[in-house]
Amino acid sequence: MKKGGPLLYRGKAKSVYLTDNPEEVSVEFRDDITAFDGEKSAVLEDKGVYNAAVSSFFFEYLEIHGVKTHYIHMLDRRTMLVRRLSMIPLEIIVRNIAAGSIVKKYPFTEGQVLKPTVMVIDYKDDARHDPMINDDIIFALGLVTREELLTMRKMALKVNDLLRTYLAGLSISLVDFKMEFGRYRSEILVGDELSMDSMRLWDGKTRDSLDKDVYRFDKGDVRTTYAAVAERITPGALHRFEAEKTVFSGGGQE
Ligand code: 5GP
Repeated sequence: MKKGGPLLYRGKAKSVYLTDNPEEVSVEFRDDITAFDGEKSAVLEDKGVYNAAVSSFFFEYLEIHGVKTHYIHMLDRRTMLVRRLSMIPLEIIVRNIAAGSIVKKYPFTEGQVLKPTVMVIDYKDDARHDPMINDDIIFALGLVTREELLTMRKMALKVNDLLRTYLAGLSISLVDFKMEFGRYRSEILVGDELSMDSMRLWDGKTRDSLDKDVYRFDKGDVRTTYAAVAERITPGALHRFEAEKTVFSGGGQE
């Protein structure tokens, strides 16, 4: 599989390339990091590698547990081959513990366990600052059907259960995370990424941030944090990447 076809789309931290197969694209996790709608930005060596490692690990983990995702396999240590989805412009955010925007908008205390688990949906549109959306607006905009929305909600809760339990075993709290979905043939699949850029992770003991909040709020060395959490979540994977560098093809890590 050739990695670099024509560029299809360049996002803030990932680039998507066409491949020889019209039903597949490759996603490169770049070293760019941005926050606050791109107001703050930097380039951090190998940051893309750490996010790619965690994302691919989680996608494989979800697939093993019956959640369908766009993931096919890694092409190199920062590039994954995925099914080409028609993306739905919604950000499904699942929150287990109050932090970030929900603490600013509502009278929750940071660190408060949320009962029930809270699901929030944002309309993905940078120019509008990703406003929170509700079911009626979603249907009036014709973004998804009722059945599709229900499917996305169920999948998001299953992903939350799976990731929260896995991370708890590593003494990491899954505070919240954002997911995106897309259509592939007649199915809804999990798309985009599941990484330190799209989740809040706290160390179970110290409550230290292990995610993009370290960058957003200058809480420490972002590279060191990302490298350590990637190693914690994907034991051995980074070493395997180093050893094999660019030879990932043909159906998964060998
Ligand atoms: P908050 O609403 O508190 O800013 O974000 C909630 C969770 O969703 C956090 O884990 C945050 O990283 C993630 N999230 C929310 N919006 C975005 C977004 O536009 N891009 C990314 N990568 N993550 C987001």
